[in-house]
Amino acid sequence: MTPRLQLRIGVLPGDGIGPEIVPAAEIIIDAALAARSDVEITWQRLSIGHDAISKYGTPIPSATLEVLDELDAWILGPHDSASYPDPWRTQLTPGGTIRKRFGLFANIRPARALPGTTPVSPKMDLVVVRENTEGFYADRNMHAGSGEFMPTPDVAMAVGVVTRQACERIAHEAFRLARTRRRRVTIAHKANVLPMTMGLFLDTCLEVAEQYPDVTVDHQHIDALAALLVRHGDAFDVIVTENMFGDILSDLTGELAGSIGNAPSLNTSETKAMAQAAHGAAPDIAGLGIANPTAVILSSAMLLRCLGARHDHAVLSHTANKIETAVETVMGQGICTADLGGTASTARFVDAVVESVTCSSDRVQS
Ligand code: ATP
Repeated sequence: MTPRLQLRIGVLPGDGIGPEIVPAAEIIIDAALAARSDVEITWQRLSIGHDAISKYGTPIPSATLEVLDELDAWILGPHDSASYPDPWRTQLTPGGTIRKRFGLFANIRPARALPGTTPVSPKMDLVVVRENTEGFYADRNMHAGSGEFMPTPDVAMAVGVVTRQACERIAHEAFRLARTRRRRVTIAHKANVLPMTMGLFLDTCLEVAEQYPDVTVDHQHIDALAALLVRHGDAFDVIVTENMFGDILSDLTGELAGSIGNAPSLNTSETKAMAQAAHGAAPDIAGLGIANPTAVILSSAMLLRCLGARHDHAVLSHTANKIETAVETVMGQGICTADLGGTASTARFVDAVVESVTCSSDRVQS
């Protein structure tokens, strides 16, 4: 008999649409596991963003970070750091702080067209593997201070960092992932104009590729790849790239596959995992009850699958599959939010997924 697994998972609702969509993941996971007696999840609500500024005087309080120290998994909502008052508006974002503190070096961002949607790229089924700790995002590149600075009021500079060690570990992540998929990795870079930084990234990924002779590897300039993805989005399997390129590329692939509202992501280190929708806080639609919760729901399914592998507990990956199937079933029935051309509110969509997942969980043997 499978041993009973007790998990404590953090929930950080965040800003903008965060408080409307993040609780959906919790509700749906609870519904999917309701019939199981072998897994028990305790949710730990934690404060970040505007909520934390009003309660603790900072968007990323030490009270939150100290609890995260004890957890090995959490769901992070979006943050609208551009709207924070000074000095926080220009400091490292809550998401950046958490990724840096816990060394969450791999950001896995799948883009797959879902049923019932009308995507630009209906056959797209790829994963962007984004290096998450260095690259061209200068705000997280320094031990102290920021890699972005202004020597005079009219000159602004930003420091990019690429290290062999970080390139190696993200490349291994991409090639291992490709082995579970269609065994093809594309390295996205810009080594023609950045021969040292992007050259090191490309060369290191190609060296790692030699250890995976069963995986086909190619490489593309990031700009050419962006154009290719629009026309031939179905031709790619795993794309590995640096931090900023991966952020931009995954918004593109998310939208090509239907909507960035559907685009999930998982951030991992060797021991910690964080589910986080690939999209932002969408302040333009916050509070209207129309946000699409799919990305955060699918991100939490990825989190469960990761925890299932780490704890060697098949029920969690089975539950992840059930949640993904329930989302697809509901979308296939034409129940979807406005970003996908539908009329469902966030609450209506979540209710439909809960109903679908509950029906399927009733059939599971406990
Ligand atoms: P960030 O820099 O934090 O990634 P952003 O400014 O790039 O944020 P988003 O907040 O992701 O942008 O939003 C971009 C657009 O996509 C907005 O018009 C928003 O309304 C829409 N959008 C994003 N997420 C969702 C969602 N879950 N449901 C519906 N629309 C969304």
